[in-house]
Amino acid sequence: MRLQKFLATCGVASRRKSEELIISGRVKVNGNIITEMGFKVNPDIDHVFVDDRNVVLEERKVYIMLNKPIGYVTTVAEQFNRKKVTDLVDVPYRIFPVGRLDYNTSGLLILTNDGELTFRLTHPKFKVEKVYVAKIKGVPTKDELNAFENGLKIENYITAPSKIKILKELNGNCVVEVTIREGRNRQVRKMCDTIGHPVLELKRIKMGRIHLGNLEVGNWRYFTEREIDYLK
Ligand code: URA
Repeated sequence: MRLQKFLATCGVASRRKSEELIISGRVKVNGNIITEMGFKVNPDIDHVFVDDRNVVLEERKVYIMLNKPIGYVTTVAEQFNRKKVTDLVDVPYRIFPVGRLDYNTSGLLILTNDGELTFRLTHPKFKVEKVYVAKIKGVPTKDELNAFENGLKIENYITAPSKIKILKELNGNCVVEVTIREGRNRQVRKMCDTIGHPVLELKRIKMGRIHLGNLEVGNWRYFTEREIDYLK
C-alpha cells in the first residue's frame, strides 16, 4: 500500500495532508525518514511513525457465521493440503476461526478478526455454552446419560458437568443434543465413546447466544446487528 494511502487509511490525516506530512520529513518507515511519494509499505511488516508516534492499521471488525461442511479443517495453516474453512469465505479481511471443529464435524463456526471476542468465546474461564446435535451408536441408558451431568473421566481429566438428551431414536441408534461449556480436543466424541455410544455424525448448532439457524451447509453470512449486540 502506498504510504500516503496507508496514513489516510489509519486516520492520521486526509490523503493530501498525509502527502504534506511525508514531504515535510515527518514520516519514518522502519527508522528511516521517507520523503518519496508513493513509497510502498506492508502494513503487516513495516513500522510506520509520524513524529515518533507509531501508526497502525485498525481493520474494521467483522463477524461471520459459516455452516462448516464435513471435510474441511479449521486450522489456518494446513500442512496436508486439505481444504480449509477460510477458502469458503471470500472477504477482504484477515479472518480466523473462533475455536475448532474437527475435520468430520459440521455446523456453526464463527470467523472474525476480533481477537478479543475469540478469547471471550474460547477461554474456559468464560464457560461459554456450546450445543451439538450428534447421531450416536445405540441408545444410552439413564445411567449413561446421567454420567454426562456428573462428569466423565476422559484420558487424564474429568469433564465439567454437561447435558445430554435424546431427541429421537432411529433404527437402533439415536440422535442426541449435547451441551458442554468446555472445548477440549474432540470432547464430544470422547465423551460419547466413554459411555460406549460412539459418535456417527456431529454438528454444532449453537455457541453462546449465536444460533446456526437455517444457514445451508457450506454457506456463510455476516452477523446481524442483534447478533453483534449479543457478543458485547
Ligand atoms: N467435540 C468434538 O468431538 N468435535 C468437535 O468438532 C467439536 C466438539
